[in-house]
Amino acid sequence: MKNNSYVFGSGKYKYFPLESVFLNNPIHIATLYQVFFEKQKPGQVNNRLQLAIESLLEKIKALDSTKNCPYCKKAKVKFFLFPDYGPVNNKLLCCGDDACREHLKSARLGELHEINDFLLLISYLPKPQAQKIVSIFKMTHNNLAEAFA
Ligand SMILES: [Zn+2]
Repeated sequence: MKNNSYVFGSGKYKYFPLESVFLNNPIHIATLYQVFFEKQKPGQVNNRLQLAIESLLEKIKALDSTKNCPYCKKAKVKFFLFPDYGPVNNKLLCCGDDACREHLKSARLGELHEINDFLLLISYLPKPQAQKIVSIFKMTHNNLAEAFA
């Protein structure tokens, strides 16, 4: 564990480091982060937990995915399709290549989102949809345990 890691001092996850709470319950971290945004006044200095979540977000952003793109079968997946209607589907994924992105966009009406940005999206969604997106992140990153060890 990194020595500058944030450890919760109270609440349900008292004494747990931020990274392990993130691995076990990313929706909780996403919700905490959203609350900061809603409560923050202009010019207010970010608190320690908020800064720790921001560095966690950067770390997630820099993670490599471990799953191959279903279209080109060469590059690793980077995007998932967030459909305009209906549930998220964990098969609707693609890499960053333009042709693969076009292919995925033609599969269903919706928007492409970066898988590694999932934490910024899920706090606004109904729980089943959020959980589906978390499972996409987990299944495309078999390296999480090492990354956050
Ligand atoms: Zn591809």
